Amino acid sequence: MSRRDSQKQKLYDWEHKHLKKSKKLSKEECESMVRTLNRHTKRLWRGKIGPVSVNILKRYGRNSWTDGREISLRTWGMTPEVIFHEYAHCCVGVSRGHGKEFVGCLLALVTHYLGKDRILMAKTLNEHNIDFESSETWRKKLGLNGRHSLRNLI
Ligand SMILES: [Zn+2]
Repeated sequence: MSRRDSQKQKLYDWEHKHLKKSKKLSKEECESMVRTLNRHTKRLWRGKIGPVSVNILKRYGRNSWTDGREISLRTWGMTPEVIFHEYAHCCVGVSRGHGKEFVGCLLALVTHYLGKDRILMAKTLNEHNIDFESSETWRKKLGLNGRHSLRNLI
């Protein structure tokens, strides 16, 4: 896994700098966000509503994670950015790690919902030497159409 997931640390560094955590969400808002993402991305799930759920971990710990179906968040990870990161793992498949598919999917989510500038994000990823698939390709795969914002999710 470590060799295939060679971009992991680079991506964490990029997120730390360019995808700062914005607002802290309540448990209900986290659940609502994942539920709505499941609906919006149903094209990816072959027309069925997506299967992802969210769980807030009570014990303090370093990482949030997902097994591909359930997102387990630490209380510090109850933010849109962490949820988009874990949700992208679910969409791409956890076995793909933080490879180019994952980054393309994450980019599609944050440009679509957080209004991040696609060109600027791509530029900063290049600066961090991170390989990524086209976010437009992922936007189509996810079935994200029209305009949405975070307000549509929570
Ligand atoms: Zn990750």
